[in-house]
Amino acid sequence: MALNAKSHLRRKFLARRNSLSRPEIYELSKLIQNRVINCSEFLSACVIGSYFPINSEVLTQNIISACLGRKQVGLPKVEDGEIRFYEIARFDWIEQLCTGKYGLKEPNKSKEISDSIRLLLVPGTAFDTSGHRLGYGKGYYDRFISHLRRSGIPLFTMGLAFDFQLMEGASLPYTKLDEQVDMVVTEQKIIKVMKPNP
Ligand code: ADP
Ligand code: MG
Repeated sequence: MALNAKSHLRRKFLARRNSLSRPEIYELSKLIQNRVINCSEFLSACVIGSYFPINSEVLTQNIISACLGRKQVGLPKVEDGEIRFYEIARFDWIEQLCTGKYGLKEPNKSKEISDSIRLLLVPGTAFDTSGHRLGYGKGYYDRFISHLRRSGIPLFTMGLAFDFQLMEGASLPYTKLDEQVDMVVTEQKIIKVMKPNP
């Protein structure tokens, strides 16, 4: 159903993101990461799941560095069709990463922290102000987030995006399997998604 609409939008948003220069990615990512590092959800979380950026994704290295020695932080590894998060703790963590599926830089199988994560940083190709997200079309984050939420784990999810990836005034296409993020952080604003009362 919404599949074609999704893939059309993915391509459109990715093309725009891929047209950013490295200095632009660096500068905008610095602003986004500073917003994350200073927000209360980050400050209060003891265990954080990040991602390691690939291609033109918002950078996360500053956030990860801000965690080391203070909080537990992990990165995803694709295993058996799902993502699992493994802790990174060493200050030379970047050199320790290996190349995994899709050319992603992944952690070694150290200590798994998937079920302990309370704040998850989520990459994406587009987000809207209701927290709907378009990923890369594989559903890894939908499956991971729904697993934690179904287990009753109090997880806070934060989409990191450049401001042009935030669709305002219209909804992205979604299905019942798409998990919404609780917040979207761009270089210009923080969108906290309003949740209906349970
Ligand atoms: P993305 O979120 O990466 O943009 P989609 O939302 O299109 O990609 O999901 C990709 C595939 O993953 C779809 O076929 C979808 O049905 C499947 N999927 C998503 N969430 C789940 C889930 N909780 N259980 C099983 N399959 C899922
Ligand atoms: Mg999805």
